[in-house]
Amino acid sequence: MTSVPQAGWLRHRVHLPLPDLDAGPVRFIAGLRPKRRGSYRLEVARQGQKTVVHNYGHGGAGITLCWGCAEEVLDLVRASAPDRQLVPVAVLGAGVMGLTAATCLREAGYLPTLYTSALPVATTSGIAGGPWSPSLVDHDPSPVGQAIFERLLRRSFDAHERRLGQGFGVFRRDLYTPVPSLSLAKLPPGLIPEPEQLEELPFATVPGPGFRYDTLMIEPPILLARLEQDLRKAGVRFESRHFRSAAEVETLPESVVINCTGLGSREIWPDERLHPLKGQLAILPPQPGLDYLFSDQRGYVFPRSDGVVVGGTYTYDEDPTPDPEVGRRLIQEMKHRFGQAPG
Ligand SMILES: Cc1cc2nc3c(=O)[nH]c(=O)nc-3n(C[C@H](O)[C@H](O)[C@H](O)COP(=O)(O)OP(=O)(O)OC[C@H]3O[C@@H](n4cnc5c(N)ncnc54)[C@H](O)[C@@H]3O)c2cc1C
Repeated sequence: MTSVPQAGWLRHRVHLPLPDLDAGPVRFIAGLRPKRRGSYRLEVARQGQKTVVHNYGHGGAGITLCWGCAEEVLDLVRASAPDRQLVPVAVLGAGVMGLTAATCLREAGYLPTLYTSALPVATTSGIAGGPWSPSLVDHDPSPVGQAIFERLLRRSFDAHERRLGQGFGVFRRDLYTPVPSLSLAKLPPGLIPEPEQLEELPFATVPGPGFRYDTLMIEPPILLARLEQDLRKAGVRFESRHFRSAAEVETLPESVVINCTGLGSREIWPDERLHPLKGQLAILPPQPGLDYLFSDQRGYVFPRSDGVVVGGTYTYDEDPTPDPEVGRRLIQEMKHRFGQAPG
């Protein structure tokens, strides 16, 4: 953790190292966030003879919410199929939602099978950036919906935090912002400390006041690889399968099905509220001297083990192909923000 000495107002400015935004080579990647208008979907439904637990539509917050949703899935399965020795469970999808749901089920004594059209590394979850971002998903704003959402966030935060230093790619990080962070706007009270108000941000080339949040960073490539490895070790099978309809799902041998197919849910269970929200990232080479996150209204930059990530685009688009021009613009805007390029 970086620490900025403070007594009321900042007396001494401690300047943190700046990202080298000219470093190369740069990789450009893009993915489609499974955004569901109004709310993510986490509920039980019937499909013929099967009990289906839907768990999809988490927009730009799937990595953030995964454990909370997985524990909730387990509660729903326990309630509808309490005799775990006798109930085979099918988990559809091997993104972060499918992997964490399968992990919780396996730990509780069920033997899930994962059916998926793509392995974890090739999913949207494998594209995600990784900062704890609870605000980038719609949830039911009614008092009940709000209470459930806060429970998911608390369970998820605790579960990520328990995995700090355990090889799941979870780190505590300082987040610096010139204005209150939009991605942390939906935090339940007391989950992380109140942000510290800074008279000056701790960057030589970024003048002006700001905020420091003590938050979590989850590196999706590490998390997904570890979850897949642990599941395989625990005897969970990964079956390559692409479902085109709910009728196809009904042919599975398992009587309980957990639907974690993200945006793919549209093909199986048409849902007009679900749509893609494209995000693009530029990934520069790793810079081990950096250990903080930075974001403003126009974008974000943060270090991971596999590179320094610059991002912050949200567009309604069905095409997951990265556009290098967009990636270069993200870098250029961040250079401007860090005083390394004209506006
Ligand atoms: C650029 C970008 C940055 C992001 N940054 C963050 C972040 O910092 N923090 C955060 O919390 N979230 C972030 N997200 C959002 C996060 O990636 C998603 O919310 C999350 O990955 C959704 O996970 P999922 O398991 O529901 O879906 P997916 O990862 O898409 O997995 C779906 C799985 O279902 C399978 N599948 C789909 N259709 C079918 C079918 N018909 N038959 C069989 N299998 C099927 C797929 O093969 C896949 O295995 C980001 C997303 C993007 C694009």
